[in-house]
Amino acid sequence: GSTIGIIGGGQLGRMAALAAARLGYRVHIFTPETDSPAAQVSDAATIARYDDQDAIERFVCSVDVVTFEFENIPAESVRHMAEHVPVRPCWSVLEVAQDRINEKRFFNSIGIETAPWRAVGSLDELKTAIGEIGRPAVLKTARLGYDGKGQVRIGPDTDPAEAWAALGKGLDQAGQGVLEGFIDFLGEISVIVARGHDGEWAAFDPVWNVHRDHILDTTTVPAPIAPSLIGQAMDIAHRAAEALGVVGLLAVEMFVTPNGLLANEMAPRPHNSGHWTMDACVTDQFEQFIRAVCGLPLGTPERHSDAEMKNLIGADAEHWLDILKDPSARLHLYGKAEARPGRKMGHVNRIRPRSGQ
Ligand code: ATP
Ligand code: MG
Ligand code: MG
Repeated sequence: GSTIGIIGGGQLGRMAALAAARLGYRVHIFTPETDSPAAQVSDAATIARYDDQDAIERFVCSVDVVTFEFENIPAESVRHMAEHVPVRPCWSVLEVAQDRINEKRFFNSIGIETAPWRAVGSLDELKTAIGEIGRPAVLKTARLGYDGKGQVRIGPDTDPAEAWAALGKGLDQAGQGVLEGFIDFLGEISVIVARGHDGEWAAFDPVWNVHRDHILDTTTVPAPIAPSLIGQAMDIAHRAAEALGVVGLLAVEMFVTPNGLLANEMAPRPHNSGHWTMDACVTDQFEQFIRAVCGLPLGTPERHSDAEMKNLIGADAEHWLDILKDPSARLHLYGKAEARPGRKMGHVNRIRPRSGQ
């Protein structure tokens, strides 16, 4: 059998590894973390920093294909891997998805609308950008932000100097940030699309995402949006995956506004807003990911049930025994020992027979 190398040791890698095992593959995880959720369920693990070129060399010699559950790995590491083994999706996709400036420029270049935005590299540029975009706005680090980390809201009275200083800690070496106009959205949706080597593609239904404390809280499908938006959302995700030449998955987060959809960000990997597929679809996002990366035919993304996914964050997971008593609930725990606040410990999918939509 073949071995799939997965960069990243989190829960996305864990669930991908479980799907891979079901299809008869071996999985080798690369992560700096000892006892990671993904390594716990995999055949092998290399524990090293993402920039450890020697460890990467040994890793790629032991796998047949490499993919990611975490996209913030250094360019040099990806280049090194690609010399030895197919890397899917390829570096150019990660390069766009790692950086909010590249990402927004990319969306706009293929006619996908975003919030108005400006790249800002200094306090002076921030002041100019606030003048152009207006308030309220959101200042974000270009790189490495997640779960709302690396973001500062610019309200009517926010002092730009304070906002710039607050962001400073999370800024990358280049010191780049992005100022975005604040969108008073009706809601947030996302679409996960799979794309194979030959351009074959399949999208899961758009889902409705509600965040709590900047972290995804629930995902509901069907999304309560106009039918016309469902097709538009799938089209946006497909066009983006096609233009990037993704082989694997692409998740695109969007804001629903009275004037239509705006793309927020994307991730070239399985996504938290796709966990519902594990219990409500014929082929779930993790199996679809493995199929795409390994060059297998894609499965049908058809949804046989309506679903609500709830993330179990920090102490939420303490109630897991009660969740087991709910006949509509399917519990997924990630094997993390320590329930730190804000940490994703697991999720629960509640499913019901599919409604009309
Ligand atoms: P993730 O964990 O999804 O990767 P992230 O830290 O990369 O999150 P975003 O997805 O850009 O950051 O923002 C997190 C959330 O903050 C969004 O889902 C949305 O609720 C809110 N938000 C971000 N940008 C804007 C905006 N321009 N206008 C209004 N709300 C926003
Ligand atoms: Mg993000
Ligand atoms: Mg996001």
